[in-house]
Amino acid sequence: MNPITMKNNDNGQTVVTENQIEEFQSNFRGDVFHAGTHGYDTVRKIWNGMFDKKPALVARCVGTSDVIRAVNFGRENNLEMSVKGGGHNSAGTAVTDGGLMIDLSLMRRVTVDKENKIARVDGGCLLGDVDYETQLHGLAVSGGIVSHTGVGGLALGGGFGWISRKHGLSVDNMISAEVVTAKGEFVTASATENADLFWGIRGGGGNFGIVTAFKFKCAEIGTEVYSGLIVKDFSNAQEYMRFHREYVRSLPDEMTVWMVARHAPPLPFLPETVHGKMVVIVPFVWLGDPAEGEKLIRPIQEKTETLGQHVGMTPWVGWQAGFDGLVDHGARNYWKSHHLKDLSDPCIDAIVEFAAKLPSQECEVFIPHMEGAPSHATEGETAFAHRSPPFVLNIHTRWQEAVDDEKCLQWARDFHEGTQPFAQGVYVNFLSQEGEDRIKEAYTDTVWERLVDVKNTWDPQNLFHMNQNIKPSA
Ligand SMILES: Cc1cc2nc3c(=O)[nH]c(=O)nc-3n(C[C@H](O)[C@H](O)[C@H](O)COP(=O)(O)OP(=O)(O)OC[C@H]3O[C@@H](n4cnc5c(N)ncnc54)[C@H](O)[C@@H]3O)c2cc1C
Repeated sequence: MNPITMKNNDNGQTVVTENQIEEFQSNFRGDVFHAGTHGYDTVRKIWNGMFDKKPALVARCVGTSDVIRAVNFGRENNLEMSVKGGGHNSAGTAVTDGGLMIDLSLMRRVTVDKENKIARVDGGCLLGDVDYETQLHGLAVSGGIVSHTGVGGLALGGGFGWISRKHGLSVDNMISAEVVTAKGEFVTASATENADLFWGIRGGGGNFGIVTAFKFKCAEIGTEVYSGLIVKDFSNAQEYMRFHREYVRSLPDEMTVWMVARHAPPLPFLPETVHGKMVVIVPFVWLGDPAEGEKLIRPIQEKTETLGQHVGMTPWVGWQAGFDGLVDHGARNYWKSHHLKDLSDPCIDAIVEFAAKLPSQECEVFIPHMEGAPSHATEGETAFAHRSPPFVLNIHTRWQEAVDDEKCLQWARDFHEGTQPFAQGVYVNFLSQEGEDRIKEAYTDTVWERLVDVKNTWDPQNLFHMNQNIKPSA
C-alpha cells in the first residue's frame, strides 16, 4: 500500500506511511478500509444521500480495544476523526472527508437482564436490534420511531419516541455508559462514576468520547400495543390542528398522538383515490387497556373527515418498523426544526401554508407532542435542555435528484424562517449543519456553559469535533 495523505485537525494534511498503516492494521481485530479496498464504497455511505464524503481510512471496529486503538492512531497522527453509529444523522457528521472514520456498525450486541429490566446495548446498535432482544421479555427501551436509526447518536442527543411521554427520553433511562475518551482511556460514566461526563453525554452528543456500550432501564410494555394511523383530508388541516393542539395535551401520558402532513403513501387501508393526495396523518400509540384507548381516540376519528384508518393491536416490533420504508437510505434529505412554544393560530396558519407547497412527494411536516415524563424531569438534570416546549416541528425535506436541491432547500429554509416566531430552541439531533450559534439554541445558557466545562475536561483538544460541536474554551 502507498502512503496516504489524510486530513488533519489543523485543516491541513498529514501523510501516513505504509508502515504506520500496517502497524495499525496488525493490532486491529476489525477491518481497515481505504479507497480501493473491497467494500470501501459501502462502509463510507451514510443514510443521507446528500453526503458523498470519502474518508481516507475507515476503521471498522469489532470491540472496545479496536475503538481505543483507532482513537490512539487518530490522536497520535493528529487526524480528523468522525464516529459512525447508525449513520443516520441528517447533518452527515458520521463521515469525514479525508480523515479517519471510526465505524461502530459491527458492534451491535444487546443483552437483557430481565429480572432487573436493564438492557446493555453496544454503541453501534440500531433501534431494531434493541427491540428485537428486549421484546423477548415484553420490554422496550425508550427511543425513536424508525428501526434503522442508530442508538449511539440518538441516545447521546436525547432520544424520543412513542413511549417517551410515559417513560422518559432515552437520556432519562440511561443508567451508565462505557466510554473511550480522547486520551484513549476506557472509563465508565454513571451517577456515581465520572458524573460530569455522565451528565454531558445525556444530551451533549458525541462531543466527549466514544460510547462502546450503554445500559438502559427498560419499560414493561408487552409485545403488542393499541396503535394506529388515522388519515385526515388536508383541506381541513387548520380545523383539525386547532382541535389537536388542545386535545392531545389533555390526554394521559400513556397516549401519544402526533401529526404528519404529507402526500399520502399508497397504504392498503386508504382508497386509491387518496394515494398521493395531501393528507394529515395522525399516528398514535396507547400503552394501556385497548378499550380505554378506543374511547380516547374517538374524538380524533370524529373531528373532521377521516379518509381512512388502521387501528388495533399491533406487535411492537412491527409498529417500530412500520415507517422504515418511507425513510430508507440513500435519498437526499435536509432537515430544519424548532421546538414550538405552542401551536397558536398563526403558527398553524404558517404550517399549513408551507405544507400546501411541499416541493416533493416524499417531504413531511412532522409534529410530535413531547410533554409528559420528559417535561416532568428537572431542567438541567441532564444536558438535554429544552424540556418544556409541548411540540416539535420537523421540516423533513426529502427528494431523489440533485437537480431538485435548490427548490427543496429553499422551501425548507423559508418554512423554517416563517415559523421562527413560534420557536423555543431546537432538538440537537434534528439540526443540519447550521453553525455554532444555532447549536447553542439546542441548550440553555447554563447548560451550554456546563457542557463547555465538560468538554474542557474530557476533550480539550477537540478531537471529537465531527458532531454538533461544543468547542472547548481552555
Ligand atoms: C429517519 C430518521 C428518523 C429519526 N427518528 C428519530 C426519533 O424518532 N427520535 C429521535 O430522538 N431522533 C430521531 N432521529 C434523529 C436521530 O436521533 C439522529 O439522526 C441521530 O444522530 C442518529 O444516530 P446515529 O447513531 O444513527 O447517527 P450517526 O450519524 O452515526 O452519528 C451522529 C453523531 O453521533 C455521534 N455518535 C454516534 N454514535 C456514537 C457513539 N456510540 N459514541 C459516541 N458518539 C457517537 C457522532 O458524533 C456522530 O457524528 C431520526 C433520524 C432519522 C434519519
